[in-house]
Amino acid sequence: MIKTKILATIGPACNDDETLAEMFDAGLDAARLNFSHGSLADHMVALERVRRIARQRGVPVAVVGDLCGPKIRVGRVVADACELLAGQGIVIQRDECDGTAERIGTNHPAVVDDVAVGDPILIDDGLIRLRAKAKTADEIECEVEIGGTLRGNKGINLPDTAVSTPSLTDKDLADLDWAITHELDYVALSFVRDPDDIYELRRQLKERQCEMGVIAKIEKPQAVQHIDEIIEHSDAVMVARGDLGVEMDAARVPLIQKDIVLRCQRASVPVIIATQMLQSMVDSPVPTRAEVSDVANAILDGADVVMLSAETSIGRHPAQAVATMNRVARETEEFLARTSALREHRLATSSLRVTWAVVHGAEVLARQLGANLVAVWTESGFTARLLSKRHLPQTIVGLSSNERTCRRMGLLYGVRPLLATRPTVDSEMLMQLDKALDEQGLASSGDLIVVVSGTHLHEPGATNALLIHLVAASTSD
Ligand code: PGA
Ligand code: MN
Repeated sequence: MIKTKILATIGPACNDDETLAEMFDAGLDAARLNFSHGSLADHMVALERVRRIARQRGVPVAVVGDLCGPKIRVGRVVADACELLAGQGIVIQRDECDGTAERIGTNHPAVVDDVAVGDPILIDDGLIRLRAKAKTADEIECEVEIGGTLRGNKGINLPDTAVSTPSLTDKDLADLDWAITHELDYVALSFVRDPDDIYELRRQLKERQCEMGVIAKIEKPQAVQHIDEIIEHSDAVMVARGDLGVEMDAARVPLIQKDIVLRCQRASVPVIIATQMLQSMVDSPVPTRAEVSDVANAILDGADVVMLSAETSIGRHPAQAVATMNRVARETEEFLARTSALREHRLATSSLRVTWAVVHGAEVLARQLGANLVAVWTESGFTARLLSKRHLPQTIVGLSSNERTCRRMGLLYGVRPLLATRPTVDSEMLMQLDKALDEQGLASSGDLIVVVSGTHLHEPGATNALLIHLVAASTSD
């Protein structure tokens, strides 16, 4: 049995006894009912089926109801689709209308008030981009910056706009009532902006005397800004990479994911990694190598739950997608168990014990004190190598009088080599160090630095001293 939990979205592709049974056999732990799609009648059929199959197998299954939240959508569009060309104009109007390439409505009339001139308007996961150019009381005049095929009901993201829509819409409240009536285990809130959105959902639950778990979906830049408070007030957090990658530069999403995983670890809150984990399996029976890596890396980072969306809800291979996640999780967890001892820095023996201990001490001091820099006198480069492997947040300045040693430091993570004359008298070492750091613009007066050296600096392998040093004012000023 794997430890990582698999959460799969239930949709038309898997809403039959046979497929769901296969998904359970492949390792499904939890099911997501996505209220953004399908009717409550559809979800009722799915819920009964999931629970019946779980009962037959004698396994518990968590059911998550995912509220749409203030998701803004394009209104209906005539003729199913129309082409938008870069450079053309298009109007977004307050009232509903039969949308065309010239004029569309949305599901949230107040959008017309919220969007300011200059704001970007992203449609269909950012495939189409408009920019607000002018406004009247009931209309926004936009220019198409990136064209594409416009379809009705597609999502709209407004990354730079403070959207005034409440976090729980009338539809959300109706869906929430249904979730409460049918005793779902968790409710997920989309487009959380700040902790108030979570408080509001908790208030609604309390009013209905319900103690369902609350999952905060992190998919807006505002939520990233308030992440610690949101984590603190949630029963679980979902890194909703789909919308997050539209609202923010997608290049930042992997790091935000890792950051949220770490923060959830510290706060002991479960974290779900969601969206496109095995996206190609919507069509293909096998995933790409990059997707397999994504799942493995999420688990290595410390994710508790990996989620499947389109792969199981509308994909062609729902059970294979669950089985793939299970296999990747099994391999990854085995690796984690096997290598946990390897991740400890191997304790050196005999002659290196002193050097090793000094390096370890330097790491502890640098981290604890938030030092500006770590400086290491290193003749052979060996002490710099040991320090480098600690992957400290601080720059390590590797001082050596040996040119070859300086060149070789080119492969040492975080180490900045500095050719420096070896002081002949140990007591001059700090003065020389300050001077060298000052000349290179690496440190300034008052900086706290951790210095690793040897009291007999001339001998390689003589690292035995560790000191905390405040850089003195440069003698040249
Ligand atoms: P969604 O949420 O599938 O409900 O949009 C997840 C995401 O945005 O990644
Ligand atoms: Mn989303």
